[in-house]
Order: sequence, then structure tokens, then C-alpha cells
Amino acid sequence: MRESTAVFGGSFDPLHNGHLAIAREAVSRGYCRRVIWIPAARNPHKHSGPQAADELRLQMLRRAVEDLPWSSVSDIEIRRGGRSYTLETIKQLVSEHDLAEPWFLLGEDAMAGLPDWHGYSELVKRCSFLVCTRSGDSDAESERLLLEQRLQADGVRLRRIEIDPIDVSSTEIRMRARRGQDIYQLVPAVVADCIVHEALYTGIPEVYPDICA
Ligand code: ATP
Repeated sequence: MRESTAVFGGSFDPLHNGHLAIAREAVSRGYCRRVIWIPAARNPHKHSGPQAADELRLQMLRRAVEDLPWSSVSDIEIRRGGRSYTLETIKQLVSEHDLAEPWFLLGEDAMAGLPDWHGYSELVKRCSFLVCTRSGDSDAESERLLLEQRLQADGVRLRRIEIDPIDVSSTEIRMRARRGQDIYQLVPAVVADCIVHEALYTGIPEVYPDICA
């Protein structure tokens, strides 16, 4: 039987507890039976590429989810290289695996940019979207509703996963690693061990081009 699947794409530079929490919620609330994690080679919506090497991001992700029976990791975007367009990824996954009507899992911040994604009108026909709360900013509520109306008018199939916001980002982890601050509360231990062991993110500039551009 074909199981409902959520595709979870991201830079995962590095994976953190927020990523894990939203994937868990998608499964525990019954939206999908499994999650395929797909680290991007290059996120087309970010101003700069990942700081950690592809192989290390992949390795951290694999180790962090290896005990989760509903999780698997795919390196298709890393193998494809270049800009990681979700439309290409969904098409490839559907043709290579027996994937029925996949979900694409994302945070609210990423949903805001969805209409600008490559091949938007085709993409929204090929998958549905599971959108998870990212910030607790109630001022943004009316903006969010307007965006949802627009997406629905465009034919986007969307379900919201409401959670208490999890205030963590990869940017924060990179910054804490750079400053030698503790990261063990914010990422799985295997990820923290890898960051410490490989001295990841320690050589990057204090000013982050991806948040300051
Ligand atoms: P960065 O800080 O480098 O921009 P990030 O923390 O946003 O990274 P990504 O790997 O870019 O992490 O995110 C992949 C997906 O996970 C995106 O859809 C994003 O919205 C979602 N996401 C990341 N962190 C959270 C969080 N704390 N809560 C909800 N969604 C999240």
C-alpha cells in the first residue's frame, strides 16, 4: 500500500530541534506516515549557500533521524547539484518511487515566499502543503490570512499545523558555534558532537550575509 509521505526540504545547516519537532507533529497528527528529509544543495531562496559541506549536512541529518522509523533521508538534491528547485525534486521522487500525492512540509516563514517559487503553478498541482507555525507574532495574523486566501485562490492545497512556536533557527546555531556557546539544548546530541568535532561554523564571519542582505 502506498503510504502518505511528507517531503521535508531545507538547508539543514545544521538540522535543529525545530526541524525535528515539526516533522514529528506532521506524523503524530496523522497527516503522513513517513517523512523524507531532503537537504538542499543550494536553496534558491537564500542569498548565500550553506556553510557546512554537503556531506557533513547529510551525515548530521542521517545520524539524527536514524532511530526514527518514519524517517528517511534522500540525497537527490545534493546529487543533482546547483539550485535545488522543489518542483524538480517532487517530479523526480514521484517518478523514482511509488509516491502518491506527496505533502511538502514547511514553516510559515517559507510559506510567505511560495508564490515566487520556481514553477509555482505546476508545483501546486503536484503536491499539497503542510505549513507549521514558526513565530508567535500575533500582529502577523492578518497578513497570514491574506496570504492563505491568495494561495487558496491559486489552487494551493494547504493544511496548517498549529504548534507553540519553537524559537530556534540554524542561523542561531551557527552563531552560537561561532561564539563557542552551548548548542546541546538546541540540536540533537549527534549534531552537536559533529559541530564540535569538525569545528563547524567557527570560521564564518560574525555578520551573516543570509540574514543581513
Ligand atoms: P536559517 O536560519 O539558516 O535560515 P532555518 O532554521 O530556517 O535556517 P532551514 O533548513 O532553512 O532552517 O528550514 C527548512 C524548513 O524548516 C523551512 O520550511 C523552515 O520554515 C522550517 N523551519 C525551520 N526552523 C523552524 C522552526 N523553528 N519552526 C518551524 N519551522 C521551522
